[in-house]
Amino acid sequence: MKYEVVMGLEVHVELSTNSKLFCSCSAKYGADANENVCPACAGMPGMPAVTNKKAVELGIAAALVTNSQITRTMTFDKKNYFYPDLPTGYQITQFYAPICRNGFVEIETSEGKKKITLKQIHIEEDAGKLVHDTRTGTTLVDFNRTSVPLVEIVSNPDFRTGEEVIAYLEKLRLLLSFAGVSDCKMQEGSMRCDVNISVREAGSEKLGVRTEIKNMNSLKAIAAAIEYESARHIEVLETGEGQLVQETRRWDEAKGETFSMREKENATDYRYFPNPELVPVFISDGWINEVRNSLPESSDEKFARMTGVLNLSEYDSKIISGSKNLADIFDETSKYFGKPKEIVNWIIVELISAAKGDNKGLDDIKIDCAKFAKIMEMVDGGTINRNVGKKLLVSVLEDGVDPEAYVKENNLGMVSDTGVIEEAIKTVISENAKSVAEYKNGNQKVVGFFVGNIMRKLGGKADPAIVNKLLMKYLNEL
Ligand code: ZN
Ligand code: MN
Repeated sequence: MKYEVVMGLEVHVELSTNSKLFCSCSAKYGADANENVCPACAGMPGMPAVTNKKAVELGIAAALVTNSQITRTMTFDKKNYFYPDLPTGYQITQFYAPICRNGFVEIETSEGKKKITLKQIHIEEDAGKLVHDTRTGTTLVDFNRTSVPLVEIVSNPDFRTGEEVIAYLEKLRLLLSFAGVSDCKMQEGSMRCDVNISVREAGSEKLGVRTEIKNMNSLKAIAAAIEYESARHIEVLETGEGQLVQETRRWDEAKGETFSMREKENATDYRYFPNPELVPVFISDGWINEVRNSLPESSDEKFARMTGVLNLSEYDSKIISGSKNLADIFDETSKYFGKPKEIVNWIIVELISAAKGDNKGLDDIKIDCAKFAKIMEMVDGGTINRNVGKKLLVSVLEDGVDPEAYVKENNLGMVSDTGVIEEAIKTVISENAKSVAEYKNGNQKVVGFFVGNIMRKLGGKADPAIVNKLLMKYLNEL
């Protein structure tokens, strides 16, 4: 029997606003527990709620980059359920008139291009966080995340493979992060994914029993969970042993399997109803155009500009336009230094490896772009050699040193004085008679050995071009 896996995704993305969705508390990640809480987001009865305009604008931006139809009068509703991290007893979300519907996202897989259609995107508030304290055996609640604005992007069940799911999440990350909607950092929970999955006989119209795997926050976990869960469904269908029930499951990373969390609720369980405390938000053509005109360059546009106008390679352009952070570093550095090819090289070859040593993701690399540009300028202009430039980059990353002052203070300026370089060459040649003999016997590899020793004698600061030229002259004259 051939089987077909059918999946739909619900992706929650935290919006890049300064404040929360209905109060002025900071929405910033990483504060101390309960630092960003006021009576409104702590769920005190009777507190006024005012919709965050910026959150709506980011919602409009999300609608635009996903080709969605924007609802002109959007409203908020209450989704009722009890959980200790939800102080009001309901989540404010959009049920009857979400911000947009019927969008699509185009993905690319090994099978070619495919359109993933979206049912809707709605704006909603996040819940707080429970912290289980094993030391005291108690559970504590942190309301910092309560009422932080999210969009939930609901796709239709268009996915057939794990590869499509991953391609879609990557595409969403690029669309939303370049539009400034969210930083989409899965490891910080600002992008989370629920997968609805069912399996049916190939060719059948009827969907199988659907389970939902909730709250996964790494692509690796998502791919593995899909693999596991679809195999579990197929085994039940195949052997007739066990039973599939509509339920919510979680992914156990350590065991590499999904487990049942609770039976799946239906929409009716939540008793959605309109929130009478929030006024409907009218979204005019003018407002939509304003948001559209202020959208920054997308990842695709950036790629096209880099390979086209700037004549950079597709390989390099793909890396830079694949991360909003790297793209920002590239653009900002370009303001100070006019050689894009050099900037791209420095980012890809030096910056990424220097910062990756810190175990950071591409989106976490931070560099002062003016200083970064200064290093390139000094290398390009022959003030320092490239190796010194690399070490300087590490000092800028780690200690924030001023490149020019640092080079002066530490006397790192490039040695181009041929007299000094010749002295070093002579010394190294006289100290290594054996290698000289090897060179004369046709072993070209010893040249690198000589260059290394000469550079070391000159504190790594010599002009490599002059060193090479003079060294070859001396060796060939011997
Ligand atoms: Zn608040
Ligand atoms: Mn939701």
